[in-house]
Amino acid sequence: MLCPKCDTEMRIKASEYVLNDGKLFSKQTLTCRNKKCQNFDKDVKIIYTPLEVSEDSEAQATD
Ligand SMILES: [Zn+2]
Repeated sequence: MLCPKCDTEMRIKASEYVLNDGKLFSKQTLTCRNKKCQNFDKDVKIIYTPLEVSEDSEAQATD
């Protein structure tokens, strides 16, 4: 994902798992790595990605 100010590819500053409404999400905080940009080292964008949790009891363990 590109920085909205300078179009530099942003990097992941922090990554964690959060529970929201009983569902598990991966939360990633993106920051700009361009030192000349106003967004440098700031929390530019926070992305929540829902994680699929399988509840299939018939799934077989692979090991
Ligand atoms: Zn930037």
